[in-house]
Amino acid sequence: MLIVQKFGGTSLADSDKIRKAALRTARLCRQGHQVVTVVSAQGHTTDRLIREAGEIDPQGSAREMDAYLAAGEQMSAGLMAMALQKAGCDAISLTGWQAGILTDGDHGNARVAVLQSDRIQRELAQGKAVVVAGFQGVDAEGDITTLGRGGSDTTAVALAAFLGAEECRIYTDVDGVYDRDPREYPDAVRYDRIGYDAMLDLARRGAQVLHDRCVELGRQYGVKIRVLSSFRPGPGTLVSD
Ligand code: ASP
Ligand code: MG
Repeated sequence: MLIVQKFGGTSLADSDKIRKAALRTARLCRQGHQVVTVVSAQGHTTDRLIREAGEIDPQGSAREMDAYLAAGEQMSAGLMAMALQKAGCDAISLTGWQAGILTDGDHGNARVAVLQSDRIQRELAQGKAVVVAGFQGVDAEGDITTLGRGGSDTTAVALAAFLGAEECRIYTDVDGVYDRDPREYPDAVRYDRIGYDAMLDLARRGAQVLHDRCVELGRQYGVKIRVLSSFRPGPGTLVSD
């Protein structure tokens, strides 16, 4: 089975967490699955990079901000591929542009258009576990773009759609989608299943758990999205029709 999964920043916050994510992934590979892993920047890296760029110019050029911010995910991808290799799994990391993720030219908030290369499929066919840097792509000019805050979710669902994976697993720090923020409301209720429209409504009203565009893409291509905790076992929440 082809599995596309994504680990968010909190799931990769330090070496130990990266190692755990890699072990979980290596297990899937040993079971004979083809696995594409999308990674976010570690912890609060993106916030830090934005702050540091602001010290140079708070109104910095959107093109250069993308060139700079994309580095966070690129670093995670390299680390994750090394952790997978260390776990005995043949792995390769790819940036968004190496993977062929073509977007429009709206720097800082680009939309994924298409997967324009078969690089991922070729690596999978050679038995490699593929790690893709989330949140980034390349526009028609060949410039690096980013997909907006939280955009690694969208990278994962876009890859699941274009590669024909049936399900996309999103590993995060909460164990699913709740009707309200479970950190604020202890009586919040977790959904076992939620429809795309209801999920989109939650995402647009500010629920941070999924990027709204990933839900739009999931609905458009019929990709089932499963939100799971990296830290606690459980069924999570399935976002589907
Ligand atoms: N690193 C980016 C952000 O913090 C993208 C992501 O994590 O999905 O917004
Ligand atoms: Mg997120």
